Amino acid sequence: MEGRPQSTDSLTAVLESPEEVLSTMSRDGKRKWLYPVPSKGSFHTQRLLLGWSLIVLFVALPIIHIGGKPAVLLDIAQREFSFFGVTFYPTDSFVLLLFMVGVLLTVILATALLGRVWCGWGCPQTVYLEFVYRPIERWIEGPEHVRARRNAGPWTFDKVWRKTLRFGVYLAISLALAHIFLAYFVGWKDLGSWLTRSPFEHWGSFLVMSGTTGLILFDFGYFREQMCMIACPYARMQSVLVDKDSMILSYDPNRGEPRAKRSKKIIRQEEEGFLPAKGDCIDCFACVRTCPTGIDIRDGLQMECVACTQCIDACDSIMDKIEKPRGLIRYTSENALSGIKTRRFRPRTLIYMVLLLAVWISFGMTLTSRDAYDINIGRVVGSTYDVLPDGQVANRLRFRVRNQTGAPTSFTVSMVDPPSATVQIAGASTIELDDGEMKRVEAFVFLPQSDIVEGVRATTLRFSFSDGTEQVEEFTLIGPTP
Ligand code: SF4
Ligand code: SF4
Repeated sequence: MEGRPQSTDSLTAVLESPEEVLSTMSRDGKRKWLYPVPSKGSFHTQRLLLGWSLIVLFVALPIIHIGGKPAVLLDIAQREFSFFGVTFYPTDSFVLLLFMVGVLLTVILATALLGRVWCGWGCPQTVYLEFVYRPIERWIEGPEHVRARRNAGPWTFDKVWRKTLRFGVYLAISLALAHIFLAYFVGWKDLGSWLTRSPFEHWGSFLVMSGTTGLILFDFGYFREQMCMIACPYARMQSVLVDKDSMILSYDPNRGEPRAKRSKKIIRQEEEGFLPAKGDCIDCFACVRTCPTGIDIRDGLQMECVACTQCIDACDSIMDKIEKPRGLIRYTSENALSGIKTRRFRPRTLIYMVLLLAVWISFGMTLTSRDAYDINIGRVVGSTYDVLPDGQVANRLRFRVRNQTGAPTSFTVSMVDPPSATVQIAGASTIELDDGEMKRVEAFVFLPQSDIVEGVRATTLRFSFSDGTEQVEEFTLIGPTP
């Protein structure tokens, strides 16, 4: 076909193209394995402390109890979600919606102000990879240059035992993480009892746990930075969420260019005017070697950058060595780099802030104004009314009551209006309710036929609870039309 390049021609063109391909892909399309060199520095220390605090929090949240429930419990089977002593039920879907919109807007605002701060500091992908899995790899298989050399060589006994040990440790950690993850959905109590029983007694959860372990192992053992570069949707959103005033990690080309490899001695001669002055970047590639996604920050803002700050620490230590000021790579904005003042408060961030405030206020108000008991009255399916021999009209109703107080309770039901009506719950007249329990009870409401006008009668019922709470509900009864 004329005008269409042959496939071999296109392949040759790609292989010979001077254009960059993905930093983790070689020109023939194969995965390029990265060996990011760790960079110690103030940012690394802060991230390490935060990362381990988050790991401890992740382990602790399903263990510590607040108000008799785990601090976080996502009980999908019972459709109950507990957060720090507050339990949400299916009837709280509006509150949950507000909560999720609030979280989404918080992420959007944080990104508009601080770029991908979440990715570099708080995302589990970064935290576990950088502070758990990679240190173990270094501990067992040695530093980066040793690993790279060994991996490129043949399979020797040394290589086999180190990899076997590493993946054995990875498997144990992944299993532990999968169990903790599962505890968020079933609670430690149930999980603890399952651990002592055969998997076939709870094979559904066993499969979930095995699958989660496999995914964690695959992600941190093999997939790694690919998750951030090709799978994570948040990375894709970055380009629309940040603008020229957002704080991003950036190389300062005004200071760094023209870059040139040179020694401290040459730099001194430049400073003394014996040689033409160059930029502060000595083209040492320390920032590239430390990058967990393999990019060169000096090429500008890139989608692959997870804002991990490792290049800041790497470059700062180089600047210390050549006695130049730190901050050639730093948190800054594109506008600041162009000499324009950074605007923290700009129309889009102000709009996000107003929306965020409105959503969180609505969330707080809806949450605090929630009834202690969720009551729903309906007619028993298929029933209408019965006219009894004594002239009374009977309506068969269904009360659905959920206890949202956080403590066991009991309740009775009585009529408020019309006073001539009576209500009779099927079975016991006092209904017991555990914390969070929802019960459906059937009841008959009787009222004189004379109280029914044109086939209907609005009534009011009072639900009296053992904690002294009373909730009044309205319901329209039906009866014969005269
Ligand atoms: S670490 Fe700093 S000096 Fe070295 S190449 Fe990167 S930007 Fe240049
Ligand atoms: S460019 Fe710097 S901040 Fe971005 S991912 Fe690489 S090392 Fe981390």
